[in-house]
Amino acid sequence: MKITEIHIYSHDLPVKNGPYTMANAEVWSLETTLVKLVADNGLAGWGETCPVGPTYAEAHSAGARAALAQIAPGLIGADVQPLPIHRRMDGLLNGHHYAKAAVDIALHDLLGKHLGVSVSDLLGGAVTDRVPSYYATGVGAPDEIARLAAEIRAEGYPRIQVKVGGRPVVVDIETIRKVWETIRGSGMRLAVDGNRGWTTRDALRVSRECPDIPFIMEQPCNTIEDLAKIRPQIGHAIYMDENSTSLNTVITAAGTGLVDGFGMKVTRIGGLMQMRAFRDICEARNLPHTCDDSWGGDIIAAACTHIGATVRPDLLEGVWLAAPYIEGNYDPEDGIRIEGGHIMRPGGVGLGVVPDETLFGAPVASF
Ligand SMILES: [Mg+2]
Repeated sequence: MKITEIHIYSHDLPVKNGPYTMANAEVWSLETTLVKLVADNGLAGWGETCPVGPTYAEAHSAGARAALAQIAPGLIGADVQPLPIHRRMDGLLNGHHYAKAAVDIALHDLLGKHLGVSVSDLLGGAVTDRVPSYYATGVGAPDEIARLAAEIRAEGYPRIQVKVGGRPVVVDIETIRKVWETIRGSGMRLAVDGNRGWTTRDALRVSRECPDIPFIMEQPCNTIEDLAKIRPQIGHAIYMDENSTSLNTVITAAGTGLVDGFGMKVTRIGGLMQMRAFRDICEARNLPHTCDDSWGGDIIAAACTHIGATVRPDLLEGVWLAAPYIEGNYDPEDGIRIEGGHIMRPGGVGLGVVPDETLFGAPVASF
């Protein structure tokens, strides 16, 4: 099976009840990029990548489209096999994992359809059909976030992630305390995500003032050096998110004991093939992690759910989806939804979601 056509689409995903607020960004609307690979047997596979604005990561939507336009002509005629195609992509363009990941997801979808298996089968096999999710709040007033935490707990989410940073750290501490008072005793786990926004001074203060609250601290500061600096002085588990930009970084962070776990994004690390290796590295070191993406619609959501379904359950911190913040689905029938804080693994072959392509309009580029 060989690739005969590649189509790239751009699609706007407005943020429901926006903006979504993080330590260093406010997001009202996201431009997502979709990739459709067509094979010589007539089958098609879909991929997607959607940076959450231009400042969350070293990625932006126009960059994704430019990178894909650079790569795509060199993929026409290639066999639909993820490993050789990743090597070919690396030979066509250095870096830009987030763009290559859209091709990777489409390859897995296409290969699954061709072989008659699901993407989770391709990734080693699902261990559950009901994948736990977690809810991420924006940065907000302490009482408002505590009220939200009560709602989320009632919905059945096993975990909540509270966004902090970009304001006086005393307000962050008050928020963490109020949320904990709300969920304490419920069994719901708590993550506090600084999105690189705290100084090391702030992170140390939060940990020292909240020694009784068992949260994990996710990407509190901007750099790996910052994490290394606070690591010996902090009482809370530290997870790496934004800094884990490649398998190379993950190997170092896991191997040196720099962190206790990861927030991981499928597109940041380069796609499902790298995500599978990441999962196995974490399992070898007993490191918990998420399987998410920064944003995106049904295609990204299905990819995250399939890899999440294969993770050893005690190590899976959950699969975060942008779904609660997005109106509607690409696939009107089998679109990915969160119910009771969990996601049903899509049935069928490949990703198990079939987008209504008329939503995306004409391709912005075809090869
Ligand atoms: Mg995070």
